[in-house]
Amino acid sequence: MNKKIVLSSFKNASSKDWGDWRWQLQNRFTKISSIKHFPIKYFPNQINADKIASVYPMAVTPYYLSLIQEDASGDAITAQCIPDMREITLGQKYPEDPLEEDSKMPVPKLIHRYTDRCLALVTEVCAVHCRHCNRKRFWAKPNSGNFKTRLGGFIRYLEKSPQIREVIISGGDPLIYDDEKLEIILAGIKTVQNVEIIRIGSRMPAVMPMRITKTLCRILKRYRPLWFNTQFNSPAELTADAARACNMLQEAGIPVSNQSVLIKGVNDSEDKMRALLYGLQKISVRPYYLFHCEPVKGCWHFRTSIESGIKMMENLRRECSGLALPQYVADIPGKAGKIPLVSISSSTKAQMHKYQYFFDNFT
Ligand code: SF4
Repeated sequence: MNKKIVLSSFKNASSKDWGDWRWQLQNRFTKISSIKHFPIKYFPNQINADKIASVYPMAVTPYYLSLIQEDASGDAITAQCIPDMREITLGQKYPEDPLEEDSKMPVPKLIHRYTDRCLALVTEVCAVHCRHCNRKRFWAKPNSGNFKTRLGGFIRYLEKSPQIREVIISGGDPLIYDDEKLEIILAGIKTVQNVEIIRIGSRMPAVMPMRITKTLCRILKRYRPLWFNTQFNSPAELTADAARACNMLQEAGIPVSNQSVLIKGVNDSEDKMRALLYGLQKISVRPYYLFHCEPVKGCWHFRTSIESGIKMMENLRRECSGLALPQYVADIPGKAGKIPLVSISSSTKAQMHKYQYFFDNFT
């Protein structure tokens, strides 16, 4: 598939429309029947996807849909955006909220798990519904409550919590808001004296890179130190548009890091992960975390074993530059937070033993 094929289904749309994030958002595909005429090779479990979408709604931007490889079975984009029957048939005993986020909210939609930072869920809406999302429980009930009331609650809590120095603005996807609303959020949070650092978590560079505009970058620049964390999971997402979006952020002085999820069939082989990590490095995006896929209801079929994840990362560690290597972690509920998943192989242990004198000299 490519941009032309997808664009042809919108009779009066131009290439200018394609590059406009609002057009992308307004023209999202929300029914499998609306994309049936595209040359997509579905997985067997994706044939009746509309049934699944009534539980976990579908949303795909024309841009992200155009990244699907026409006849590639096992396509990484298809797996991440087209509903799959296994979302409602397997792993139904998994919790909807495995990190128990909903119980860690001192005020609505603000998660405070760690002493010095908190996570502000400013929206439940996203450009694309990533099928592996650990917050897919939000999709059926988007944006509950009033935007200003929610922001006011965040600000009052932050003012009463001097130990919080960093606020992660997330969701949903905060860049779903237009520039004006986003600036109201940033300015409001920045009024709190103890907030030193703002972090934005957004998948827009991967799923709708046209959202990163010059105006947006100008706004974000005003609120530095501001860090931007995004989520590329496959080298197929590292397009020229995505690279341009990341570069615009970087040129505005905003460091861009990546937090991938380890997803079965998408990036769980050494070859695919290596291509992703090298690709990120080439566009100056730092691979930061690789999250083990959480036990979320509706995500059973995306999960790999921890053992295979450790083995894959151990092998990559032997050949890849440290700058290309994310930390492989499992996020668990409570203050323990992110647990590094590492093991030292017997051959590595033997090598360390051989060079014991080296360690002795320096400890
Ligand atoms: S953009 Fe993030 S929060 Fe939204 S569906 Fe994708 S993974 Fe979930």
